[in-house]
Amino acid sequence: MSDQRPIKRPRDDLEQGSASSRSTQLAIKKSRDLWLHDGNIILVCESTGFRVHQSVLTLHSLVFKDMFAVGNPDEDKFEDCTVVTLPDAADDILHVLKALYFRDYANEDRLDLEVLASLLRMATKYMFSSFRKEIIPRLQILFPDTHDTYISLERFNRTPVAKLDPKVGIELGLTCGVPIIIPAALYMCALRTFMGGKGRLLSPFDNTTSPSHVAQIRCLRFMSNWSDLMDDVFSSLEGEAPWETLEVGYWKCLNSKDAGECPGLPLEAKREMETKCRRLTTNVLKRDIMSADTMEEYGICSFCKAGVLAYQGELRKKIWDILPKAAGYSDWDALRTEQRRQDALREGS
Ligand SMILES: [Zn+2]
Repeated sequence: MSDQRPIKRPRDDLEQGSASSRSTQLAIKKSRDLWLHDGNIILVCESTGFRVHQSVLTLHSLVFKDMFAVGNPDEDKFEDCTVVTLPDAADDILHVLKALYFRDYANEDRLDLEVLASLLRMATKYMFSSFRKEIIPRLQILFPDTHDTYISLERFNRTPVAKLDPKVGIELGLTCGVPIIIPAALYMCALRTFMGGKGRLLSPFDNTTSPSHVAQIRCLRFMSNWSDLMDDVFSSLEGEAPWETLEVGYWKCLNSKDAGECPGLPLEAKREMETKCRRLTTNVLKRDIMSADTMEEYGICSFCKAGVLAYQGELRKKIWDILPKAAGYSDWDALRTEQRRQDALREGS
């Protein structure tokens, strides 16, 4: 890295340790965002230094509180401040410090998932318990545990402008004790495999960073559970309107007023809806499973159309209910109980 060359550099960049430092060749690149002149501690990650206040960290993080209480007799000094080297990514620490020092930083409506992920990782690792309490509900809007939230305007408004990568949701759920966000994140990964592949399956993950082995296994299991569970969903809805009276390849119209006028629904109409759900060629939890155009083509009456829409609503409810099961949990309630247990564990209560 050119930053490491021992040549004369601007003040706001890399500087070598001063004479007062007990370490040799301590090279710190001062953070442009967080180098506070009266700070008394320097956190160093990947050679970037953040000059902040020990008291502020102590106030918010149990781990830093304990770390400073114990102290370190061999500590390095830089510009008379104690230097603490952390093994974390500089961006992770930068995001958490910005959230601590800049009042509005973590309150933006459309916070990037990358920032939320950094905050949750650091909040979990260093026990910034108030951050954890703030970040988890925000992630639950992006990867919801209710269908209402999934299709809500609030979720739309809070979805970051940058792409929402469901892989990040799975990883956070697994590593930071947030199982409640895993089913929706897995569903979103499964959607990716089927949509837009022109007949070929896509990888459930994009190519930017490779997911952990555990995340990959969970995703594969989700997809294989999906088809089995879909059998249960459809058999539980057997006999629901408009699929009540199959006669010679057609479901007869049940509208007594217009009897004889409406052709009813052909055999393939049901199969078409089922295939969409099984193959996830469309986001069946959000979009029409039988489109208005298709209903028009079948020439069915408004009574039959209403029947299809009601059936679609029931279908979505059932599909939402199987998400936890496909993800390896028993149901949403069990998952909510598990989430409460994880939260209590991490808040030390
Ligand atoms: Zn009809």
